[in-house]
Order: sequence, then C-alpha cells, then structure tokens
Amino acid sequence: SKATGLGEVTFFEAGMQLQVKEFADLERDLRYAIKHGELFIYLQPQVDRDGQMVAAEALTRWCHPVRGFIAPVDFIPVAEESGLIVELGAWVFEEVCKLSVRMNLAGHGLPLSVNVSLRQFRQPGFVLAMRDTLRQTGAEPAQLVLEITESLLGDDMGDVVAVMSELSQLGLQFSIDDFGTGYSNLARLKQMPLSEIKIDKSFLQDLTEGNNDAAIVEAILGIAKNLRLLVVAEGVETQSQADFLRARGCDRLQGYLYARPEPAEVVLRAWLEPTAF
Ligand code: C2E
Ligand code: CA
Ligand code: CA
Ligand code: CA
Repeated sequence: SKATGLGEVTFFEAGMQLQVKEFADLERDLRYAIKHGELFIYLQPQVDRDGQMVAAEALTRWCHPVRGFIAPVDFIPVAEESGLIVELGAWVFEEVCKLSVRMNLAGHGLPLSVNVSLRQFRQPGFVLAMRDTLRQTGAEPAQLVLEITESLLGDDMGDVVAVMSELSQLGLQFSIDDFGTGYSNLARLKQMPLSEIKIDKSFLQDLTEGNNDAAIVEAILGIAKNLRLLVVAEGVETQSQADFLRARGCDRLQGYLYARPEPAEVVLRAWLEPTAF
C-alpha cells in the first residue's frame, strides 16, 4: 500500500544519510591515515610448483585508532571514489619499492606485486611520479609487477594501454588481476605489455573435473599459454585445488593453503633467512 511505501522511503533515506556521513568520515580519516602511518603493507607469498616462495603480493591494511583494522573492501572503494587512491597508491608503491630494495640488498630479491587502480593510470603525471619513485628508492623495476583488475578495464582502453607501454619502458611488469571476471577483449589483451594473469578465486571454489569452473580454468590456462603469459591462481585453499591447477600447468599458486597475508616484516623473516633482516 501507499502508506507502507512511504514508510519505506523515509527509512531508506535515513539509511542513505547515514551512508553519506559514514563515507565522509572514512574519507577524512583515510586522508589522515595515509600521512600519519596508519597504513601497513602486508605480503602474501606466491609459491611455485615445488611449493617454494617465488614472489609475493602486497596488500594494504589500515589500522584505525578507534575502529581497529578496516578491511580493504571497506576502504579501497572510499579511496577510489574520493580520488584518495592516487595518494594511497603512491604511498603503497614507494613502500613496496623500499621493501624490494631491502630484499635485494639481503640477496633475496623476489618479484613483488602491487595493486594499481585505473584511477591512478588516468592521473596526469602518473608515469613521471612512478619513474621518480623508482629513481629515489633505487628499486629494480623488473622486480615490480603492477596488478590491474580486469573488471575495471572498460571499452575506453586506448589511453590505459598507452600509459602501460610507457611504464613498461621503465621496466615495470604487468599482471591482469581477477582474470575471467571481466569482459576483456582478447585482441586488446594482446596489445598490452603483460607478463602475467591471475585466475580469480571465484573459479576455484567448486573445481571438479568436467564442471563449468574447471572448463573456465582450463580455457584461461590455454589462453595464457598461447599468449606466453605466466599464470598465478589466487585464493588456493585446498590441496585438491592445488593438485588440479598444478596438473594443468598453472605456474604459481597463492592462497591460505600456503600462507595468509601477513605484515611484510613477518613474511620476510619467516620465508627468507631469519638473520637477514
Ligand atoms: P585482490 O587484489 O584480488 O587480492 C586478493 C584478496 O584475496 C586479498 O584480500 C587476499 O587477502 C585474499 N585472499 C588471499 N588468499 C585467499 C584465500 O585462499 N581465500 C580467500 N577467500 N581469500 C584469499 P584483501 O587483502 O582483503 O584485499 C581485497 C582487495 O582490496 C584486493 O583484492 C585488491 O583489489 C584491493 N586492495 C588491497 N590492497 C590494495 C592496494 O594497496 N591498492 C589497491 N588499489 N587495491 C588494494
Ligand atoms: Ca591483486
Ligand atoms: Ca585478485
Ligand atoms: Ca579480487
């Protein structure tokens, strides 16, 4: 009835206002957090077919002074929408460059992956800022992999490919994250300077011989082999998932089966020589 409808509208609007306030608070706090050391880099290992750590992905954590840990699903969208992702992304990249330099100095250089938002790519001066950070930190670009989420790659890709090419001339590597969840144009993929794709974890949940997810994973591995790309599977939680992926030539595995993301210091100490850091 009309009465109920009206009631629902009022309720909905009150909820909306709360969300707007919540967003504004988070944005204000995040702006502060980036500058005042409330963000931390966690690393999650990627292992090769023998179970050796051969690379790691950097994942950002926010320790809010009042709310405690806030998950990326709750603050990355705020960062994206407010534009703060540009500042956050620059901070993350610099921290990862510094980590990479320390690992190399200790004789344990491994590729480190960083998540990069398309919003950063569209920022004027992005390539120059990345180049400056590489120079200032002395990081080796060939050991840094920029992950771009496939679902964010829309139709309007010309500019993004151009920026990728410039970054790739600096020596940086590229990976397509969450592969299979978007609508990548395969011809476009071929034009990108990619070295890797990551199979999205949603395809791993129900991997049984002969079912749809298995067919998708096999197709992705086939495309990757044809394009000569390295394949990383993310969200590997069980031995049977790992066995399935290994049997079909997946190069690297990342997931709770091997390790959860942990503070960079903890991962470096556990996986590399305990005395090195
Ligand atoms: P993503 O890049 O797809 O990262 C993988 C996510 O899967 C991470 O969530 C990781 O903790 C989680 N994960 C890893 N192994 C497993 C597993 O075996 N099972 C399950 N269920 N999950 C697993 P996290 O750290 O919460 O990050 C969520 C998303 O937030 C990331 O998804 C990424 O899109 C974004 N994000 C995180 N840090 C950054 C950052 O520094 N910059 C940007 N732009 N985005 C970031
Ligand atoms: Ca990622
Ligand atoms: Ca992913
Ligand atoms: Ca994801």
